[in-house]
Parts: sequence; structure tokens; C-alpha cells
Amino acid sequence: MSRPQVFVSACLLGQQVRYDGGHRRFPYLAVLADYLELHPVCPEVGIGLGVPRPPVHLVSREDGLHLLEVHDHRRNYSEKMRAFAVNQSQAMAHADGFIAKKDSPSCGMARVRVHDEQGQLRHKHGVGLFTSTLRVHLPHLPVEEEGRMNDPGLRENFLTRVFVHHRWRLLQAEEITPASLLEFHTRHKYLIMAHSVRAYQLLGKRLANLKGALAEIAAGYFAELMAALARPARRSNHVNVLQHLAGYVSDQLSSGDRQELSAAIEAYRRAEVPLIVPITLLRHHQNRIQNPYLASQYYLEPYPAALGLRSAI
Ligand code: SF4
Repeated sequence: MSRPQVFVSACLLGQQVRYDGGHRRFPYLAVLADYLELHPVCPEVGIGLGVPRPPVHLVSREDGLHLLEVHDHRRNYSEKMRAFAVNQSQAMAHADGFIAKKDSPSCGMARVRVHDEQGQLRHKHGVGLFTSTLRVHLPHLPVEEEGRMNDPGLRENFLTRVFVHHRWRLLQAEEITPASLLEFHTRHKYLIMAHSVRAYQLLGKRLANLKGALAEIAAGYFAELMAALARPARRSNHVNVLQHLAGYVSDQLSSGDRQELSAAIEAYRRAEVPLIVPITLLRHHQNRIQNPYLASQYYLEPYPAALGLRSAI
């Protein structure tokens, strides 16, 4: 089975590439390494800076953000970093995600400190120069920070997008046809609906007429899909999806089993149990009933169940 390809700020993988010669190992990556291919990238080393090295920070100037040495603003690495990110975006054309080191003026995804020419803090709404350039060139690539990945909802959302991105790349590798595009959409129906029913309807409209330029339609579809999935799925949407899916098995359940499934969905609605509880019950019945439509839905297993992501949301 091919695994999603995810690039990671190298210091998070324990590589001693930080300015002070240290690392910032993110222990959860050891869990992910069983399911993803992890590729280290250190942009500051990539532009030729040594280890250890003088620290850099972001400075706001009239013409935009610059990556400067903290103690010597004459040393400006902005152009080198942008050029490296453009090159790296080509190397990452086969990537399904990027896990970025938070707060870094190169790798940070959000809330990075931005200074003025005197070194005073101006605000904390910056994006690391590598990551901001990368996102221009790979706008649909799922990106998340290790700090935010400690939040179970954000972690689950990021990995959902990584696995959808991966399935899309596999589809592209086999060449997209009208039939394969429609099948992709159909199999992701309830996963998309968990994020937004409206997005599912709009995406369906995009595929209503596939007689035009297929590559353009597919590109537009994928852009809209990734944007929709970036909005975390709400509990009420999951409940709606679960009730729909229960409908595919309910007429073959005993009244006791039906009540038990309905009670599990209601308990999830009240946040008394995690999502995995009604999902496990649904899958248990599905394993016995073998409804082919339900079996086709990625919602029931959008990523390896052993990741345990749905036990925490
Ligand atoms: S945060 Fe990014 S640039 Fe800094 S050491 Fe880690 S990988 Fe390298």
C-alpha cells in the first residue's frame, strides 16, 4: 500500500539543525511514521546556513516581510529563502502534507513574531518565509504545525486532508476519467458532508457536466474540495452523517440494535462519548450486513483506524 508523503520541519524529527545546534523532537511523529512517509526539510540549512548559526527573525518593511539576522539586519536571507521554497515546492509536488515547526521565522505557519527595524515586536501574525512561499506554489497542500496538532480536532482534520490528498494523487497517477472522478466524489460523499453539506452540493454541481475540459474541471473540483475539508467538521454535521448512514442498515437490524445505534449517535451528539463509539457500532453492523454502498464510503475509515484519531473527538 502506498503511504501519504509528508514533509516535516527537520528539527521536529530530532535532527539537530536549529540555530543553537539543538532539535525540537515532536514525539507524535513516531506514531505517524507507521502510516506516513516522513521527509525532513530544514529551509535554513537548505539556504546554506550552518549549525550553529546566528538566529534570524522576521522584520516588517514597506516592501513586505524580510528574513534578517537578529543582531545584524544587513544580513538579509529573504531572497535566498524564497528561491529555496520555490525549488522545494517542485521537489514537494508529490507531497500530501507539510508539518511545520511553530513560531519559526522560516517554517512557522501562523502567529509568528514580526519585528520592526529596531528589533521591537510589532505583531504576532506573521507566517514563516519558507512556508508562506510554499503555500503560494502548493495552495492545496495540507499544512499544520506541531503545536496545533496537540489539539485532537485539528490533528484529525489535518490527517483527513492528508489522506484525501493522497487518494487524489493516486487517482491522478492513473489518469482521471469522468467515471473515476465521479466515483471519487461518490465515495467521499459523507466525508465531505461531515464538513459541509453545501460544499458537497456545490462540488456535485461542478461534476454535473463532464463534457468540457476534464483536467480543468478536476483541478477546480480538487481546489474546492480541499478548501471545504480545511473547515473542521462540526459535531452536528457528524450526527447528520451518522443518521444518514444508519439508514442504510437500520431495516436489517433488530429493534434493540436500532435503538442501541440511535442511542450511541445521541450520546455522541451530547459529547458523552467520542465519535469512534457510533462509528464502531455502525461498522460492526456493516461487517455483518455488507451493504455495498456503505462499504464504499471513506467516511467509515478515512485513514487507518489504528491512528485512533476518532477516539479523541
Ligand atoms: S524550524 Fe525550520 S528552519 Fe528552523 S531548524 Fe527547524 S526545520 Fe530548520
